[in-house]
Amino acid sequence: MKRNKVDISQSVPPGSKILAEFLNFIGWFSSLVPLSDALCRSISAMGSRMKDPLILLCCLELLAFVVLSLASSSVPNNAYPSGFGDGSGSCSPRDDVLIPSRREVYDEGRILDISHRYREDMPSWGSLEGLGQFLWLPASIKNGSLANNSEMKLPTHTGTHVDAPGHVFDHYFDAGFDVDTLDLSVLNGPALLVDVPRDANITVDVMKYLNIPRGVRRVLFRTLNTDRQLMWKKEFDTSYVGFMKDGAKWLVENTDIKLVGIDYLSVAAYDDLIPAHHVFLEGREIILVEGLKLDDIKPGMYYVHCLPLRLLGAEGSPIRCILMN
Ligand SMILES: [Zn+2]
Repeated sequence: MKRNKVDISQSVPPGSKILAEFLNFIGWFSSLVPLSDALCRSISAMGSRMKDPLILLCCLELLAFVVLSLASSSVPNNAYPSGFGDGSGSCSPRDDVLIPSRREVYDEGRILDISHRYREDMPSWGSLEGLGQFLWLPASIKNGSLANNSEMKLPTHTGTHVDAPGHVFDHYFDAGFDVDTLDLSVLNGPALLVDVPRDANITVDVMKYLNIPRGVRRVLFRTLNTDRQLMWKKEFDTSYVGFMKDGAKWLVENTDIKLVGIDYLSVAAYDDLIPAHHVFLEGREIILVEGLKLDDIKPGMYYVHCLPLRLLGAEGSPIRCILMN
């Protein structure tokens, strides 16, 4: 949109600069449609043009005053309750600062992301080459499509993922005990993060040593796998640690744990791979979350929130898990 612009690029007294910029702003503001997008652009444009922080501050204050006045006098909106979504608007980043933020921690530590990013060089079961390419962009704006539309292909037991009973019991698989049948009330709630002794698999002796009280329903087991950073290495490593059959059996019979989380691709040690899975999944009450990212998190109680995809017929699914303090 065009507007008459007052030239403030020359050296003029500060007061004149403020006035000129304000006039520019008011002239432009009066022609705004739609309001919110234009406001965002205006802040960006003004910010890039004004070198003097004092001027910018003054204009932003004026802008805030005008916007608040308009908001308070606007027609009530019955589409959602008042207070919902207030202040959630955000400006699109300026073209010259397009740097996405990738975080492990949100809200000053209140939310901890314990899921691994899907990367081509993340480990994949049985492979020395890592996951490899799993994402393609068959339709792209650069090639004339209206939008970018990617496709992905990856084993469902890749990265941070969940196992359903059909994973190791074929009659459960045939009966439809897939990831869509998993109980979200097990996957979400208070959880204990424990440090497992670093020199062994999780045996009956280790379980007794951990002494997890009755009533604890969700436990994330951090092991030597985290110290060895196995989830950050592309080569699948059979020397990872996990549950032995006797440790799994003891857990099922002597605790109230229904969510078992672990920090490599299998909850079961390689030597007891299928037997330990059988013990956990036979009763269809325990849910296994594997490949968790438990680096740099203090042991203790948290709220865990895990949500698998609703993949009909799939015995595994990528899952996003967070801890909340
Ligand atoms: Zn699995």
